Formats: sequence, structure tokens, C-alpha cells
Amino acid sequence: MSEGESVRVAVRVRPFNAREKERNAKLCIRMEDKTTTIINVEEDKEKKFTFDFSYWSHDGANERPDGYNEPAGEGMGTDGATYADQDAVFKDLGQGVLNNAYEGFNSCLFAYGQTGSGKSYSMVGYGTNKGIVPVSCDAIFKKIDEMKASPDAGKFQYQVTIQMLEIYNEQVRDLFAKTNPTGGLKVRMNPKSGVEVVGLTEWPVGSYREIDERIETATKNRTVAATQMNATSSRAHTVVTIAYTQLELNAKGPGKHSEKKAKINLVDLAGSERAESTGATGDRLKEGAAINLSLTMLGNVITALAEKSNNPNKKVLVPYRDSKLTCILQDALGGNAKTIMICALSPADINYEETLSTLRYADRAKQIKNKPKVNLDPTEVLIQQLKEENERLKKMGGAGGGADEEEVRKQMEKEIADKLEQMNKGWEEKLKEAQERAAAEGADGGNENKRKETEAHILNVHEDPVLSKAIVYFFPDGKETAFGNRNSAGGEDILLGGLSIRPDHCRVKNEGGKLSLSVREQCKVLVNGQEMPAGTTELNHNDRLSLGTNYYFVVVNPPQVASPPEGGWPDVDWDFVNREIAKAQGLSVDVNWSAMTEEEKRRALLNDELVQVMPRVTEANALALEMKRGISFETKITPVMTKHQGMISQVMVKVRKTDTGIEWLWDKVKFINRVYIMREHYEKMQEGTLDLSTMAQEEDPFWDPNDFMNMGYSTVFLKPIAYCMNIDDDYSIYHETQQDGVVKIKIEPCRPDGTRISEEDEGPYDDIDNPKDLIGKRLDVLVNIQYARGLNNKYSKEVYCEFEMFKAPNPQHEEGKFQTATMSGTTNPNFNYSQQVTWQSVDADVVQHLETGSVYFHMWGLQDDHSGGSAPTKRKLLTAQEAEAIQHDLKKKDEALEKEKQRLYSLCDQCVAGAQGNEATSGFLCAIADTLADAGVDVTRLLELANNVQPMGGGG
Ligand code: ADP
Ligand code: MG
Repeated sequence: MSEGESVRVAVRVRPFNAREKERNAKLCIRMEDKTTTIINVEEDKEKKFTFDFSYWSHDGANERPDGYNEPAGEGMGTDGATYADQDAVFKDLGQGVLNNAYEGFNSCLFAYGQTGSGKSYSMVGYGTNKGIVPVSCDAIFKKIDEMKASPDAGKFQYQVTIQMLEIYNEQVRDLFAKTNPTGGLKVRMNPKSGVEVVGLTEWPVGSYREIDERIETATKNRTVAATQMNATSSRAHTVVTIAYTQLELNAKGPGKHSEKKAKINLVDLAGSERAESTGATGDRLKEGAAINLSLTMLGNVITALAEKSNNPNKKVLVPYRDSKLTCILQDALGGNAKTIMICALSPADINYEETLSTLRYADRAKQIKNKPKVNLDPTEVLIQQLKEENERLKKMGGAGGGADEEEVRKQMEKEIADKLEQMNKGWEEKLKEAQERAAAEGADGGNENKRKETEAHILNVHEDPVLSKAIVYFFPDGKETAFGNRNSAGGEDILLGGLSIRPDHCRVKNEGGKLSLSVREQCKVLVNGQEMPAGTTELNHNDRLSLGTNYYFVVVNPPQVASPPEGGWPDVDWDFVNREIAKAQGLSVDVNWSAMTEEEKRRALLNDELVQVMPRVTEANALALEMKRGISFETKITPVMTKHQGMISQVMVKVRKTDTGIEWLWDKVKFINRVYIMREHYEKMQEGTLDLSTMAQEEDPFWDPNDFMNMGYSTVFLKPIAYCMNIDDDYSIYHETQQDGVVKIKIEPCRPDGTRISEEDEGPYDDIDNPKDLIGKRLDVLVNIQYARGLNNKYSKEVYCEFEMFKAPNPQHEEGKFQTATMSGTTNPNFNYSQQVTWQSVDADVVQHLETGSVYFHMWGLQDDHSGGSAPTKRKLLTAQEAEAIQHDLKKKDEALEKEKQRLYSLCDQCVAGAQGNEATSGFLCAIADTLADAGVDVTRLLELANNVQPMGGGG
């Protein structure tokens, strides 16, 4: 058995982006030869990996006037690294793939990495920095032209076809087709010819320009679809397949050609980050995770293949069939193909975890072994089969042997030759027809590029830079161009699908190069982030125009290009537009990162998250409205308890059911996931393939079961415990910076058997003078949660209190937490909870925690699903226990007020003594009296005092 050939793996690190620069991001990647080191900046630790190729594209580049990034010189990057440009990457990877194809091997090159790490830059490229796909296509035709010019030219014929598909949410779409069947194209395993995507367009091309045009048109199709749906292409996989066939005419005698055919798959994978973060949320709706089923399965296939390569004798099942992507790439992975993987890395320390996981993935991939074979000439294959068949027949009884064999062989050869000839004829015709079709469209494309130079227009701005500026709408001079809803019957020039677009939404008029925008009543249009009232406004070059919820454009007005504002025209991308909109809504987004304190930075990062989430909240509200879900969404910054960082503020989304007032709080990941599903449902509803009235509640992305909500928390500092003293107090419960009730908590050191230590007794901790004396000893405490008072009645259907103790997990609970019993129907629950918590052996961390740390007691409550949200809550009859609790509560409040009253009285006495006859003092006392009267305190004595100072209203 042959040894097989390893998958070759390349890594490439990109420059810092504008955001990372602004944030003074730290570099966490280093490369020396084939070694890539990732540095954990916080912990000052390193991990090393080796790969077949490593490309330093982080710095040391020089931008040519045409925009191409070339190496500024040998060793000009950090630590003497040399910049790897697109050309260098193509020479190693792209050229290698092409050479394989010329020899008749199938090959596959795929790009892996988190969103924004540079996959598309390497695969497709931007502007003059063309990536592997276009450069390879160019090279193929250069090679063909070269061969055509050689003396042997007449002997050969070359056929090139291109296919382009996208996998999104396990649906395969043909990017060359104007429309795709609902549910996507089918993928089939054909035992003879391998994997087949049924009905996928295979476009014959005769030149590089034709390929380029095809890809441009496909990108346009993708952009339109993605914008309408507001889908994020970062969750889609794009596969470009180029089939290269070389025929040697009459190689085996007249009319008998030999054929060498190879397929090149170039795969730009979906962002790798979601697969993990999606899984982590454990959302009830698993569809969210299915969006990336393909990527998860690719990981499983790679793991299985790596295992198989390392243990050749072990039977390992490789789960190719589990997803569309792995099914389509089956040949490329561990099959009959040469495979290269390029892993795109972010250089910034904030992406450390993602980048490390990419490197680990890459490390596994390099262990896979493929068994590439030259694709045999189909004639040879048939003859081989024929021979084998004959052998078999001979063995069975000699009947089929001898002269017959020669006869059959001749006949077969003739048949095959005929077929091939027919195929070739078919090819010429197919190519001609495709060229004619393309020319009809292409004329448009060429024209478009010319028009862009002189005519005013807008270009789309998309979250994925690959899809940005793919769509253009012109505003011809002397004409008014109307935008409207795709479904409207009006005579609009430009029809847009998607959310919140109305018939005759807005118009742009071009009068001699001057653009004006008129907006209709109630139509959502933003210019440079500002909401436009109905009426007419001027539009200028580089203005940002946003229509409805999904459409962002940038205005291009050629006559104005030459007079830029000070500092030049800003580069408009997705981030720019979103930040501008957020700014218009009052968020501070332009911050000087280097001058900020840690706290301010945290704040700014939260703002950043808000900028990301807010447009989606707007969209979700629009979706809910159009789908009549009776749900509203709102962003919130809420303190959230996390495993590693303790209590931190996080952007959450509050979801409210408008009829019952019931609320949920979703984290960002869950919310965004849900928005994807909402969009899909909306699209299906538009298509008429989804009936919302019959949809099961479990499938509704707008819905969640009524679940416990966090009603707030109390912070209890543990310092007394460090000195083996008791804690006993009423603690305020805080909910989003507001106080919402109190909870009575007692924590006291106790004996190992759980009994209390009274003051007179000798206890196990008598000789503890310093908290450090606890180290190595056992420590037991009794935690008492007696009651809570004044809880929010919205969540009082059921309530319980929960806490976690550092390094002393509850063995009975899967996450180690402690919980009181659940109390029903009360805002003043008497938990009467007592629990022993034990540190078997206190260590230095525990001591430090006791000295400086705290425990959070979280109150959880269930909402009453039936009580009307805005309607007043009905008063229930109190049980004896509740009545007692309230009595108790009131008594305590009274006592506290009494104390405060006495204090004020004595203060007043002092005042009176010190300031007889002072007008200001009497005013002061009257004010206090008023305040106290408001609080229900008897004020006669106070008024008396005030009057003593000066008769009320009297003169001096
Ligand atoms: P992905 O496809 O992985 O989401 P992109 O390839 O679109 O990421 O890259 C994100 C951004 O980073 C783009 O603006 C791109 O121009 C830039 N970028 C990525 N790689 C490089 C590189 N090697 N050199 C310069 N810019 C790069
Ligand atoms: Mg990309």
C-alpha cells in the first residue's frame, strides 16, 4: 500500500486592521522559517507549531501607487521578518495546485480561519492584490496560450470550465444560476464518478476575462441575496471549481484521443469562530448551530483522517456524509487529490484564543494523508474493466475467452472514440454558446465600469468586504431615480427586497451633477447616520445612505471627487457606517484609546458591542413587526456573573412579550443566532413556504419558555471569615444599579460536624490570629439565608436564591452551586436555608479570596405568564406566614426609622443651640420636617423646634 501524501498546510498572518491599531493591539504571532509561535501576552507563555509554509504578511510592506502591497525589502518586518505578498503565496500554493492539474491530479486548496483573519484576501484578494483564484485562472490561460503557440499546438485541445457554489445553512446554491430551488441543490454520491451536485452549472470558458466576468456576476448575485436577507456571508462556504481537461488529439491513432482531466477546488470557508461560540450557548433552537454544521463536520472529518493516518491498522469511520461540505470535499480530503490548507491568522492579542484554535486545527490537518492518483484516461479505464471482465469469464469456464476478446475490445474502442469525438464537438458548441450568453451580460459589465468613471452612483457597503461595492445603481443626469419595495406595483426604477422598504421609499435626482434626495413620509432613510425627515436634502460625494434596515450605500459623485475635504475622503466600510449611526444615537465611539484608563477601555469595548448589536436589534424589531409576533427587543448593559472574570458588564438583549409583559434576557450570541433564524423564517414567509400560524412554539425564534430571570444580587464581603468572625446582616439586592429588596444573610465559622460555636466554647479556630494561619487547615462555615423582603413582584411567581463558594463547590450540583428551595407566590420569601460549606484544606488562594473577595447571592424569579404586563397585578390574599413576614419587615423598617428620627432630633437640637434666631436654620429645619413628613415620621416636635428658633412666617 502506498504511503500517501500529507496535506500541506500554510499559515499566513495579516496586518493589524484600523480598529486594532487604534486599540494599540499587541502582536501575538512570530514566524521564523517554518516555525510559527503564538504568544500569550497576558501570561507571557509561548506555543510553537511548524507548518510547510508560513507567510509573514503582518508588516514590512510597501504599497505601490497602484495599491499593490509588495515587500519593502528583505527583513523589513518585525524581528527581521520579510513581508510575503500575494505573488509569493501564489508561487508556492497556487502554482503548485496548477502544476498538479497539468499532470492530471485533482487538487484542493482551502482557506480556514476566523472571520476577518484574511481568508478571502488570500483566496480572492482585493483590488490589485489579486488572490489565488484569479491569478490561477489567469495562469491557466497563459499556459494554454503558450502551448497553442508551440509547434505541437495542433495536437492538443484544452477545455476549461468553472463552477461556483455556496453552502449556507446546509443548503447548496449555484452562484451562476439566477434562481435556485427552495431547499438548495442535491448532493449525490455517484459510485463511478464521485460526488455530484445535481444541476450545478458548469460554465465553459475560453479566456481569463471570461472567468473574471463569471466570478464578478456570481459575486453580484451573492451580494443581492445576502443584502436582502441581511445574511452574513461569513457563515457561508464558497467553493470555486475549475476543471481543466487536456486532450491529446489522435494520440492512439486517427480519431482516438487521450484525455487528462483535473479538477481544482478552491474553498473559502465560513468563519471558524462561530462553530464554537454557537455551541457554547446551548440555545434551545439548534438550527443556529446547524448554520455551521458543515464546519463542525469538517473538523470531525479532519480529526478522523488524522487518526487514521496515525493508526493505519485501526478502522476509523470518516463521517463525510454528515454534512454538505464534507460530502462535496470528500475527494479532496483523504482521497484522490492533493490538498493544501491555508490558515489565516489574526495578529492581535485579543484574538489569541481563536488563533490558537486555528493553529491546532492546522496542526491536525497536516497529519492527514491523501492518495493522489493521476486521473486515468477514460479509454484506458474502460479497457481495463473489459480485461478484468474477460478474465473473470475465462475463469468461470472459458466461454468468453480467445478471439471474442479482441472483437469486443475493438468494438469498445470504437464506441469510446465516437463518444469522445462527440464530446469534443459538444465542447466547441457549448463554449460558443456560453460566450454568447456571457457577451450579452458582459457588454453590460464593461459598460458599467466606464459609466462609474463619469456618472453619479451609489455602491453597496456590506459587512463582508468581499461583497462590498459589488452592486452599483446609477443616477443619470437630468433624471429622478426612485427606490421602492420589491413587491410594490409602482413604477420605481430600483426595486429592493428586504425589511422596512416601502413602495416609493425615496428618490434621488441628478441635476447637472448636483444630487438631491427626497424621502417620503414614514420611510426610513439615514444620511451619514442621521435619520432624514420627509422632504428633500442634498447628497454629496462619499455620503453614506442607509435605506430600511438592511441597505447601506456610499455615494460616488465623480465631479466632486477632485475636491476632498481636509484629510481626504474617509474610507467607508461597514464598521464606519455602523459607528456613525451609533454616534448619531448618542453613543461615544471616537475615543482616544491610548489615553484611557482600564475602566474607560472596558466601557469603550461595551460601546463597541453595542454598535454591533444595535442594528440587529432594530432589524429584529422590524422583523417582529412584519411577522406580527408581538415581541419587542431592547439592548441592555447588565452585570453578568462569569466563570473567569467574576461580575462584569455585558451587552444583553431584553426581549419582551407585549401582551403578557413577560421578559427574557438573551446574551449577544444567542440573540444574533436567533436573528439568523428570524431572517430565515421571514424569507420563507415571503416565499409562502412557512405558515406562522401553524408553526410549533418550540420552533419559534421569538419565543422561549418562561424561565427564571436574575432579579439581582447581593455582594457579601468575606473578610470577617478570614478572621473566623461572623457575618450577619441585611444585604441590599441590586438589580441593574437599582436596589430591589433585601436579603438576610448569616455566615459563621462552625465545627466540622456542622454545629455552631458559641462565644464561651472553645472552638477549632481559637488559635487563628492571622488569616494565613488557616492555610493547610480545614475550614467549615454555616451559610444562612433566612429571608428576603421587598422583591420585585413581577418575578414573584417562584423565587430562589443561589450562590457559589470559591474552591468549595457543592458536590450535589453539576456546576457546584448552592441553592435555597424555591418559594412560590411571595415577594417576601422565608427561605430559612442553612448549609454547611467546607474547605477541606485552605490554600493561599482561598485565604486571599476570604480577605479581599466576596460572594454573590443571586436572586432568581419566575414571571407570571398570565398577569397582564401593563395591567395592575392582582393582590392575592396573604398566608399567615406571609403576613407575619411583612409585619416583621415593617417592624424592622420602623425601628430603623425611629433610630434615624432620634439622630435627626439630636442634630436639630445641636443646630438650635448653636444658631438661635438664624433664618437660614429655621428654613433648614422646615425642609427636614417636610422630608420626614413625606416619609411618614411624626414631625410635630421638629416643627416645634423650628418655631422655637423663629416663629414661622414671622419677622425678625
Ligand atoms: P476573511 O475572509 O477571513 O473574513 P478578509 O480576507 O476579508 O477576511 O480580510 C479582512 C480584512 O483584512 C480585509 O479588509 C483585508 O483587506 C485585510 N487583510 C487580510 N489579509 C491581509 C493581508 N495579507 N494583507 C493586507 N490586508 C489583509
Ligand atoms: Mg471572507
